[in-house]
Amino acid sequence: MKTIEHWINGSPAAGTSPETAPVFNPATGQEQARVALASAVDVDTAVAAATAAFETWSESSLTQRTQVMFAFRQLLVEHEEELGRIISAEHGKTVDDARGEITRGREVVEFACGLGDVLKGSFSDQVSRGVDVHNFRQPLGVVAGITPFNFPAMVPLWMHPIAIATGNTFILKPSERDPSAANFVAELYKRAELPDGVFNVVHGGKEAVDAILTHSGIEAVSFVGSTPIARYVHETATSHGKRVQALGGAKNHAVVLPDADLKFAANHITAGAYGSAGERCMAVSVAVAVGDAADGLVEILERKAREVKVGPGDAAGTEMGPLVTKAAQERVENAVGVADGQGAAVIVDGRGLKVDGHEDGFFTGPSLLDHVTTEMDAYKEELFGPVLAVVRVDTLDEAIGVINANPYGNGTALFTGSGEAARRFQRNVKVGMIGVNVPVPVPMSYYSFGGWKDSLIGDSPIHGPEGIRFYTRPKVVTTRWPQPAQQVTAGFNFPTSS
Ligand code: NAD
Repeated sequence: MKTIEHWINGSPAAGTSPETAPVFNPATGQEQARVALASAVDVDTAVAAATAAFETWSESSLTQRTQVMFAFRQLLVEHEEELGRIISAEHGKTVDDARGEITRGREVVEFACGLGDVLKGSFSDQVSRGVDVHNFRQPLGVVAGITPFNFPAMVPLWMHPIAIATGNTFILKPSERDPSAANFVAELYKRAELPDGVFNVVHGGKEAVDAILTHSGIEAVSFVGSTPIARYVHETATSHGKRVQALGGAKNHAVVLPDADLKFAANHITAGAYGSAGERCMAVSVAVAVGDAADGLVEILERKAREVKVGPGDAAGTEMGPLVTKAAQERVENAVGVADGQGAAVIVDGRGLKVDGHEDGFFTGPSLLDHVTTEMDAYKEELFGPVLAVVRVDTLDEAIGVINANPYGNGTALFTGSGEAARRFQRNVKVGMIGVNVPVPVPMSYYSFGGWKDSLIGDSPIHGPEGIRFYTRPKVVTTRWPQPAQQVTAGFNFPTSS
């Protein structure tokens, strides 16, 4: 059976640890490869390679760095289908959906291609007599990214193009469930003439993560994953002196007002809830139906949920693939049973779905739960599967109250025809990313991505201007060039401008 190796200093590396983990094809349920699990020694090897590469990469010109990014971007375009199939085979999502995540990730590369403009400092002439001030930013050194299974290309792409373009060297620890995309990206970087050691991949689980969080040679850690691990990563890495950005889990509400176009809202909520089998941190997991919107909305949601075409991700016409693991399938199906027991109305029951020819695949169908209350587990837990819960409320302000009482604050959406309601919603809701008649409001790469509350631990969103800030340190230079004959008296008082 194939073993997926690390990628260190520009080449595949077996590592020193004999430990491996299984990598499944979720559509067939079969183990298709093993992935090497890095030990602390392997992480140390990667840090040594990245440290050596930083010496020269941090001295490279802006032009050289952006040329690599332009070449890398072109390779991502040319290999989108191939990379999409690699992702689909290990994650389970459809190939088209995987291509979508590559496109959204590539947009961050495009942002990095324009780095020359974004990194410009500022200059103040004559702040005091004969004195000027300017500022600029410099890279941190070796930085690391620890990423989740659900976007094996896009989430790392939120990190490494900006880290590398700003002059850092990078170590990626991708999810051990779908590790191959990271190695493919490493090969593309090599073909884009990125010097060896600038981008490295170590595979693994907790041991590798802990080695990264505590390694004295790593300056900063970017993490995206579940909230408990985000909290752990933030606490451990900051206590070891690192800069940390840590994005966590989510429970995203889509509010539907009675004045909304219900068909439009239901179509978009269906796609946002069941696309990628609900395994998106921006998936719509709760529809909050306001007043008279509820009955009509649920009627269309039910019809749409029953129409979703479930099958293997590489089959034409499939809209929703399997879940990533058998454990995820069991967890989601169990949650539907618990909701039933707690009094939710199971309008569409996705449990026990079998796909012809793929009987051992990790499939579950779309589930729609109505009359869910905020006390039920199906509301409180991040199910991370194709389950949409409908909560009924009487007013927009009540809907905002529900959202604000939820511990998560990643994304939310409002469906309405009222500008006044939309304005009130976006100003009052305690959520980082908001859509108005847009169900999955993932910001463009030149904005930054990040939630509020338990969806983001610490204070740094990811990519865009926040990404530049995160991967660089500022310097401010105060300069005086006195004329040779000029006498400048040095005072003992604290310097003030004059
Ligand atoms: P996860 O937290 O289980 O794993 C994320 C990473 O942490 C992986 O690389 C994994 O190997 C590592 N890890 C797991 N357990 C660990 C432990 N005990 N100690 C150290 N490291 C550990 O998340 P997942 O299941 O891969 O991904 C799904 C989660 O990610 C969901 O909660 C989802 O909402 C979240 N997510 C959030 C965003 C966002 O932008 N906020 C984006 C994508 C996914």
